[in-house]
Amino acid sequence: MIEAARIASRTGGTGQDDKVFPERKLIQDSRAFLFHLLIEIANFTALRRHIGLPRAEMLPLDLAQRATAALPGVDIAPVGRASLGLWFYGSERRDLERVERSVRALFAAPIDLDGEQHRVELIVGGAFASSHGADEVRIAEDAEAALSNARDAHNGAAAGVRSCEATDARALARELDRAIGNDELLLMYQPKIHVRRQEIGSAEGLMRWRHPTRGLILPGDFIPVAEESQLIGRMTLWAIRRAIADQRTLAARSHDLRLFINISGQLLADTAFVREACDLVANSDTKLGFEITETSVIRDPESAIANLQIFADYGIIIAIDDYGAGLSSLAYLKQLPARELKIDKLFITKLTSSNRDPLIVRSTIDLAHALEMEVVAEGVETHAALALLTVMGCDMVQGFLISRPIALDALISYLDEGRHQAAPIDARPSLTELARNWKRG
Ligand code: C2E
Ligand code: CA
Ligand code: CA
Repeated sequence: MIEAARIASRTGGTGQDDKVFPERKLIQDSRAFLFHLLIEIANFTALRRHIGLPRAEMLPLDLAQRATAALPGVDIAPVGRASLGLWFYGSERRDLERVERSVRALFAAPIDLDGEQHRVELIVGGAFASSHGADEVRIAEDAEAALSNARDAHNGAAAGVRSCEATDARALARELDRAIGNDELLLMYQPKIHVRRQEIGSAEGLMRWRHPTRGLILPGDFIPVAEESQLIGRMTLWAIRRAIADQRTLAARSHDLRLFINISGQLLADTAFVREACDLVANSDTKLGFEITETSVIRDPESAIANLQIFADYGIIIAIDDYGAGLSSLAYLKQLPARELKIDKLFITKLTSSNRDPLIVRSTIDLAHALEMEVVAEGVETHAALALLTVMGCDMVQGFLISRPIALDALISYLDEGRHQAAPIDARPSLTELARNWKRG
């Protein structure tokens, strides 16, 4: 049956076939060889971190549809979690490379995924046999073996690149230095939803680097470089300026939300940074918040607590980030001028599958309330987790279930839509419904 479909698509319009195999000679048997290409998305894990699980699960099908539109005559389907399988006939062995080149060309430039540009890295393995009496299982096995070799080579190369980068961190730091002044950094905003009020209470700015050749880079890959190369102060001051401008834009659109940004621990003891940050905030009259980890306070508690108090005196709301993931000390927790406690996503993503985590989350919520702090659960990915957190009295939720981090324009659209849904309390849709709508946004 598969073969019939393939033959039909190969013998369909010759004009279309010529697009794929422009050099094919008419006298050759166009079905002399049966080819199979296995294409794996090499950076699937990194992409999934960025676009979220549901969107990542759709990615192989999405790529298969894009490739099908560009390669008529080739059967393309998702195979497994992160791969595509291609089957096609051709007249000569080189047709395998031609199709491979076409696929690579198709995904050479970053592609648009929900309005963001992402680079898709491919690993390719291929096999073929004379189509007369071809054993498809054997071809599939050969393609898998070729893919496995290609994967080893790719990982070897990637490891090489990583070690080069490690030894040449200065080169990356130089690029980053240029990027800060060059409009290559951006803040994406992830809303925090107030559970009882059923509305977006604030949003967290998460930094991305739109690198001219490498595509979008996530903070986990460049914040450590910035910290090591002393660029983190300049970069964070850029983020504060950006958040101030974005907060003004939001307020002008009748969405006077507080915007939070992440502050690295090492900056809490940096008096020059604290002074400049305060100067920016003092002259701005905007609603800002800083997220800091408790671990960063424990490093140099005296100056960290004093500087956090200075920020708080300027009207900046302090949130304790990643609570439970690092070092924790009740003694310091009590002294911090913090108004929010964010429970690390490690506990939230496993909330409904673990026995221990619900107890930890429950007692953390009670502890924070006793210290007069509001609690934010980060990493809310499922309706079940949202329901449980609501019952536990969690004040705010944040996570892919409600929204991924999105650009300012998209955040404004969400907020515009949410405003239509507000109005009388009892007529409001449930939070879950809101979450579904926002997510669809
Ligand atoms: P974070 O502050 O704990 O931010 C939350 C991270 O979890 C973000 O990753 C976010 O995209 C991701 N996330 C959000 N919702 C979910 C969910 O439902 N499930 C899962 N699995 N993940 C979720 P991102 O953007 O890659 O940021 C990673 C870290 O980089 C941040 O962790 C923060 O520590 C740091 N970072 C980001 N922007 C900045 C910045 O401007 N300055 C500094 N110093 N650090 C930053
Ligand atoms: Ca954070
Ligand atoms: Ca966090």
